[in-house]
Order: sequence, then structure tokens, then C-alpha cells
Amino acid sequence: RRAEYAAIRNQPADTKDGRHVTLMVNAGLAEDAAMLEAAGADGIGLFRTEFQFLVAATLPGRESQLRLYKQVLDAAGDKPVVFRTVDIGGDKALPYLSDERDESENPAMGWRALRLSLERKALMKAQARALIDAAAGKVLRVMFPMVSEPWEYEEARALFEEQIEWARAAKRAMPSRVEFGAMLEVPSLAEMLDQLLPRVDFLSIGTNDLTQFLFAADRADPRLAERYDWLSPAILRFLRRVVVQAREAGVPVRVCGEMAGRPLEALALIGIGIDNFSITPAAVGPVKAMVRSIDAAAVTAKVEALLAKPPPKLRKSLGDWAKRQGF
Ligand code: PEP
Ligand code: MG
Repeated sequence: RRAEYAAIRNQPADTKDGRHVTLMVNAGLAEDAAMLEAAGADGIGLFRTEFQFLVAATLPGRESQLRLYKQVLDAAGDKPVVFRTVDIGGDKALPYLSDERDESENPAMGWRALRLSLERKALMKAQARALIDAAAGKVLRVMFPMVSEPWEYEEARALFEEQIEWARAAKRAMPSRVEFGAMLEVPSLAEMLDQLLPRVDFLSIGTNDLTQFLFAADRADPRLAERYDWLSPAILRFLRRVVVQAREAGVPVRVCGEMAGRPLEALALIGIGIDNFSITPAAVGPVKAMVRSIDAAAVTAKVEALLAKPPPKLRKSLGDWAKRQGF
């Protein structure tokens, strides 16, 4: 299969009936960006900036952040990179910020990500400055993790816009354009899309956290790993509603959780209208092979039918059908 994936590395991820699917990768290290070509990917759809913080012995300063972001943008060349502001706190506590250690029993639902950033504004300002400087002459794409309500997005975006104004006034070299997006990984945000969508350039669905919050099932608990299925009608119906609303608002949607890196799951996502995935580099070959082997119209009709009247085991029904189609 490896040879098969290598053979299609430079081929487009187009379905048989001509629907183009954008395949980007999730990354967190400078080295990951260098792998874009080898993976045959279209860019970095999720750059997890907290990796640098998690491996450092002391809080990374603005200069070392700037160096990393520049390296990543340089390695990506013309391909887009979406930087996610730090998703630290909760269980990803930092040893050098001892007061940030979270003793709560449910750290995933605790003081993490944007919740922490909005209270530690100096941290976020430093990151904003580093990102703005790193993207001089290029498009800067930023997204915020764990947005639960639109005001959090607004506050984070306003902080970035202040820094952009500051940099402009200081006559620094500026990004050619700045795009802002929100991660949809807390279910409450889905109820507020009418408020959020007019304000974002893109939406990125984090199915890892979204699934654990939808099912109230810890993503790190191995005893639950098999119990709740990404190919459940609850998840797919939820995602489809988001996709329909975003499409009506003209906002592009990407899925950046692990779900999209599995071929059958990605097939189902195509069936509900998603055509942009950010996945682990090793999944690009298998997912591209799937995309090139399917008819998107037939997949859409099948998934629609399965969601209208869900069978007891949706995964099996979809899998059997896909096999009969030659996938
Ligand atoms: C997610 O939650 O799906 C996601 C992509 O972010 P992370 O896995 O880093 O929480
Ligand atoms: Mg997440």
C-alpha cells in the first residue's frame, strides 16, 4: 500500500466525480513542516503552538516563539499554515508556571486553552507579537482553541487586532493579510453560530474534544475508547448541522481532529459536505487513496439515507456499502 500512496503523492485529492478535497496536516514541531512535500499535503491545518511550551524548561520568550513560527512558515513555503494559540492548562500543566497547575478533577473541562489565555493576557500578547512578526509579508492564519461562547473569540481577536495596530504604528513589517478562525470543539458554540459565523474567516472542528464533550466521555480513558464511535449518527448529525449553517454563511469548515485521518470516517465527512481535512501526516496517503476511489454524489446520498433512518450499527452499514462500491 505504501507504494500505492507514494504513486499518488503528487496527484490531486479529487473524487471520481470531480470534488476536490483539501488535505492538510496537524503539526507541532518545526520538523513537521519540512514533511509537507513528502506527505503530499496542502499545508498545515493545525499547528499546535503549545508543543514548544510543553517541551521547554522555562517559558518560551517572544524571540524563541518568533524563531519557531518563522521556521515553520519558511518550510511551508507557499502552503498555508494555521497557527492555533496555546492550548495549555488543565492536564497540560507547565512545570515552570507552578501556579497554573490544575488540581481539578476534570482538567479537560477546566482552566485551559483560551480560558487561560484570556486571563493571562501577557502570554497571549507575546504570542500575537511573535506571530505577527513571523508572518511579515505573508498571510497570517490564527485560530483559537476551546471557544465556548462568541465573546471569547471576540476578546481574543481584539487582543490580536490591538497588537496588529501597534505593529503598524511602529512601522514594522506586516503580514499581507490576517485571517481569524475559531475551533469548534465545545458543543455550546454550535448553538451560537449565527453570532459567530459573520465574524470568522474559517471554522475548524476539533473532533477529539468535541466527541468527549458530546458523549461526556473522557478521550483519554481507554475503557471508553471503543464505546463511543465517531461514526455514530449523533456526531454526524451534529456536524452536518454545523456544515449546513457554515455553508449558508459562506464560511469554510475544516475538520482537524483524529477522526478525519481515518478513511471510512473521512468518507462519512465528505458525505455530510466537508471537503477540508487536517490530519496526521501518515494518514494523508490512505485518505487521499479513499478520496480518489469514491463518487462523492453517491457517498452523499448514502450518508443522507443513513442519517435519516440510522441503522443499529452505522459503521458496519457504511463500511459494507463502501466495500461494495469498490473502496
Ligand atoms: C481536537 O480537540 O480535536 C483537536 C484537534 O485539538 P487537540 O487534539 O490538540 O485538543
Ligand atoms: Mg482540542
